[in-house]
Formats: sequence, C-alpha cells, structure tokens
Amino acid sequence: MRKFLFILLAVMTLLACNNANTGKTGGEPGAIFYTEYDTPFGMPPFDRISFEDYKPAFLKGMEEEAKEIEAIANNSETPTFENTIVAMENSGRILTRVSRVFYGLRSAETNDSIQALAVELSPLLSEHRDNINLNEKLFNRIKTLHDDTTGMNLNTEQYRVLDNYYKNFVRSGILLSEAEKSRLREINKELSSLTLAFGNNLLNETNDFKLVIDNEEDLAGLPEGVIAAAAEAANAAGEEGKWVFGLQKPSWLPFLQYSEKRDLREKLYKAMYMRGDNDNKNDNKQIINDIVNLRIEKAQMLGYKTHADFVLEESMAKTPENVYKLLNDVWAYALPQAKKEAAELQKLIDAEGGNFKLASWDWWYYTEKLRQQKYSLNEEEIKPYFKMENVREGVFEVANRLYGLNFRKLENVPVYHPEVEAYEVLDADGSHLAVFYTDYFPRTGKNAGAWMSSFRGQQVIEGENIRPLIYNVGNFTRPTGTTPSLLTLDEVETLFHEFGHALHGMMSNVTYSSVAGTSVSRDFVELPSQIMEHWAFHPEVLKLYAKHYQTGEVIPDELIAKIDAASKFNMGFITTEFVAAALLDMDYHTQNTVKSFDVREFEKKSMEKIGLIDEIIPRYRSTYFSHIFSGGYSAGYYAYLWAEVLDADAFQAFVENGIFDKTTAAKFRDNVLSKGNSDDPMELYKRFRGAEPNPVYLLKNRGFIE
Ligand SMILES: [Zn+2]
Repeated sequence: MRKFLFILLAVMTLLACNNANTGKTGGEPGAIFYTEYDTPFGMPPFDRISFEDYKPAFLKGMEEEAKEIEAIANNSETPTFENTIVAMENSGRILTRVSRVFYGLRSAETNDSIQALAVELSPLLSEHRDNINLNEKLFNRIKTLHDDTTGMNLNTEQYRVLDNYYKNFVRSGILLSEAEKSRLREINKELSSLTLAFGNNLLNETNDFKLVIDNEEDLAGLPEGVIAAAAEAANAAGEEGKWVFGLQKPSWLPFLQYSEKRDLREKLYKAMYMRGDNDNKNDNKQIINDIVNLRIEKAQMLGYKTHADFVLEESMAKTPENVYKLLNDVWAYALPQAKKEAAELQKLIDAEGGNFKLASWDWWYYTEKLRQQKYSLNEEEIKPYFKMENVREGVFEVANRLYGLNFRKLENVPVYHPEVEAYEVLDADGSHLAVFYTDYFPRTGKNAGAWMSSFRGQQVIEGENIRPLIYNVGNFTRPTGTTPSLLTLDEVETLFHEFGHALHGMMSNVTYSSVAGTSVSRDFVELPSQIMEHWAFHPEVLKLYAKHYQTGEVIPDELIAKIDAASKFNMGFITTEFVAAALLDMDYHTQNTVKSFDVREFEKKSMEKIGLIDEIIPRYRSTYFSHIFSGGYSAGYYAYLWAEVLDADAFQAFVENGIFDKTTAAKFRDNVLSKGNSDDPMELYKRFRGAEPNPVYLLKNRGFIE
C-alpha cells in the first residue's frame, strides 16, 4: 500500500545514465526527441540520449506545442470535435516524448545535473501549462462544443474526453478575473518549485544518513543476508571492513526486525522518521506550510471551500465527508486491534525481563519474535523460495493463465541501466500488446518506493493502435556476491502490486491518450494493482512459482499454511499506521484558513484527536510524506483503502468462480483493465461485477470480522 504510481507526468522525476555520450553521432542536441524513435517497438534509444539533449528538447517541445495550440485556438472554422479536441490530443508530442524519458529517469536513475535541470524546468513547464489552460479562445471553442453536443454523434469515450477538457479548463481557472488568473499562475509556479524542493530535501536526507557499525557485536541478531548486504553497502561507501545501514527501506527494515541492539534500533528509526525535520538545510517544515497555504488560496479562488473539496470532486469518493467516513469506519476496527497487539508485544518484553515500555523502534523486533512464536514463521526460512526471477516468472504466469499473455525477453535493446530488463508482451492471439521493463534494485539516484509508469502511452492515431511501453521500478533486496535477490513477503506483494498497474497500462485499449491506461481517478487506479496482491500468496499460485533457489523444491504445504495463518498477523498495526497517515493528509487539506502553523504541533494534534498510541507513528510523518507534498496524492492517500473496498469485492468474484476463471478474467479485462478513463469508474465496475462493491470484504480481508 505504500506503493506509488506516477499518474501525472508533471510530478515525475528522473535521470539518464551519464554513459550516454559515448559513441553518439553528432546531430543537433535534442533532435533525438523530435521524431518517433527508430528502434524496435519505438523504445527510447537510451544509448543515444545524452544529458545535453534534454533542455533543448524541452524548449523546442514547449515552443511546438504552443504553436499547435495557437493554431487550434485561431482556427477560423467552426469548432468540431475533430479540429479542436482531437487536435489537442495530438499536440505536444515532442514535449511528451522528452518528458517521459526525463522524468522517468529523474525518479529511477538521477544525478545532480538532472536534479538541477528539473528545478530549472519546473517553473517553465508550469507557465507553459498555464498558457494553455488559461487560453480563452481555446476554451471558447471547447465550451461551444460542450454546451451543445446535439448532432455531434459522440460516443461515450468522446463525450468523456470533451467533458474532461472542459472541466480541466474550469478547474485551471479559465473563468477567473485577469487579476486572479495572474495570481493563480504565481501560485502554480511556486507550488511546482516547492513540491520539487520537498522531494529533493527528502532524497538528500535519505542519502545523507548512515549508521556505520565497526564492532561485530553490534550485528547481534541480524541474519546473514542482511549482514552481507550491509558489508557491501560499506564497501560502496568507502567504509571497507565495516557495515553500513541506511534509510532506504530494504536497509532499515530488517535492522529493526532483527537487531538485538535496542539503542541502535532507536538511532536508525529516529533518523528515518526525523527526515526533513532536522532544522538543517533539508528541512521540510516551512515548505509544508507554504504548500498547504498556497493550496488553500488556490482552492478558494476557484470556488471550493478547501483543497480537499477541489481534489475530491474528480474522484470516486467525491467529498471529504465520504473519505472521513471510510477512514473512521476502518479506524474503529484497526485501533483496538493495534492496542491488543501492543499489549501482546509488551508481554513478550516483560517475559524476557526487559524493563522498559514498548517504543515505536521496538515494534518490528518484537513483532518478528511473536510471529515466530505464534506461527514459527521465520522470514529468513521463507525467502529462499522467493528469488526475484522466480517471483517475476510467477506474476507472468498469472497473467498468462488469466489473460493468455506471454512475455518474451528482449536482448540487445536500449535500456537506461544495465539492471533494467525488457520484455515484449504478446496477447493471447500472439499479437504484440506492449513492452514491459523491470528495474527492481535500489541504487543511489533512485527514489525510494516502487512505481509504474510509461515511456509511451496507448492511443489510436489515424486508425493505428499505438501500443504502450510500460515500466515497473522497485527497491527490492539486492543480490549479494553469494546469493541471488531473495524477496521478503512484503516485496513479493509489492512486485505483484506494481505489475497490476503495469497490466492496466499494457491492456489499455481506448482511442484517446488522455483517457488511456492508468489515467483514471486515484481512488480507482489502485484497483488493478491491489487486486493482483490477492494472487501473490494464493496457495495455488505459490505452487506455480515459489521454488527454492538452490534445490528447485516447490514451497512445501506446511510453509504455505504458515504464510496463510500469519497473513492477518499485525494487521492492527498495518492498518493503524496507514489510516493515521491518510487522516493526517485529510486534516492538512481540509483546512480552510491561510495561516502559518507549526508542523510538529499540527501533526501531534491531528494524531491526538484520533487517539493514536505512542508505540505507533503514522506510516508517513509530515516531513517525508512525499505522496502528498511532492507526489500527486494530496487529499488522496486514502485512495488505497478506497480501492481496497473495490479490490476485495472484485477478487471475491474470482473466489466464487475460480481464481483462474477465464470468463471472470475476460470480464475484468473488458470492463476495467482495457477501459482506462473512457467511462465513469463506478459504471465500469458495475458492468464487471453486476453491483456496487460490498465493503464487508475489506474488513474480512484484514481479519477484522469473520
Ligand atoms: Zn499502487
């Protein structure tokens, strides 16, 4: 649930390997982006793209799109769907092409030059976007079409595309006075710089801290694989012969789970949760103040009470009230469960003669012990069955059994880093469906977390169905010199999750790019991803892919039973830390008065109000809550839980008909996975399931009710 999906190009970031320059033939800088790539499947030619290409291509891309938009706005012919909406859909191709590569790399393989260029481009792009969104002549053409569609014979998708354009203009401020419009431009520019600064500070804070261990005794309790990874991290950091732990999750989490050194757990965990809150040059508190206040000002200028009202209008949830209702309903089950869990952990501490009160940096350690006591489930015993390559084969096999897809490894195609792998995805009838890239290991220069996005989206241009180039990026456990990448259960779940987003992108089959693939509302977009998590640990599916990396032995029934029995374990904690963060997000964004505030105090009050216990902190504290302050999830973090109402209910259809039932799968593909945003999401869902989702399956799924 902590996983990201980049929906908005504008919020994405990334890097091109510094490689790139060698062997490149001359040519005008940037020109590589001016035409379709002459590569297999039109994959970006990373081997021929260099840093020097980006800026000229962005400038040219903006210039070209501005010209195209002017031509549409000044067209002397009567507005038609074709000469206005379709023309807009087809505009800005250079800018789209360079943006997808640049921002893709800014997230997955960045460097200082890329970071700096992103900062430089941000206000320019924001202004460019505003120049389009505040173009009155253009809007008047769209309004003419929108006001009276009789005789236009629009199909559902076309009407929705037209309506989206109209609403987008209104929501971007086209109906404001000139003075307000100019203030809005300022706000947008500031917001885009502030959200970027937030992310950069967080990346610095994450990379700057290192827990260096030089005394072997301080490794007590840590599994061998974790120690080996820490030794390699030390080598990479120039600390040969020592062990280094950092603030990327694959590093801090196992340390918290297994380290017997309570003081070191505390040190590492505090460093993690104080990111952006250290009163240094990377502090995010003033930035949060500025972002929240500018969002209030903007929302109210546009006629909304709060930023949340503005955002949620375009979601399935529609209003802050509906969001609070879902979150509070689930909270009522989660908090009491978390308190029970805390009491159990305290008992364990007391039984060991530990003379202290459970603290947040103890939770994982004692949870791991309790998990072993209760289920004799040791993650280290399980990991050998989850070699990354086997898990990836597993998710491909699921896609094959459900939808008939086949994955063919592509060799000698351009990728942006040697660890990236690419596949051609073939549909059931053997036709080309998409290209799929995987990039699964953490590196300096890669953002934390996991996400899906694309180097090219799906659309139909002049009758030709352009197929997408989709990628998944993750930060999973690296292979070491002696063992392959062995994934934790959490990482397995994440891999399946992101693959679900990838399917949504790959199976897209609409006409217009603006409604293709994952371009749906945030509380709907997690349905295709979260439903995949249900397959990850299903016994029938485990038997297909969970094979011991050394012996090839299929995971034994006894281990499957343990995984199943333990699947609801710690669910009070997991739900509580999630809902706490989602409520924090809503509390920030339902404020209706611009005023400066103390971030620590705000967060404290927000958590006191719901009675969060000291032993748990929100999944994201404010100063590193990048989903809401530098990603596209403000007033939207709840979306994962909202979508779980959908995914739990949707998977129930497979439980009822068989988890590989082809008819159910076809219905899901035809009504959800292929439809993008070409129709109302609840309508799409009802066509698949025959009814609105029943929230009871979410509560069952989390073990809160029988
Ligand atoms: Zn997701």
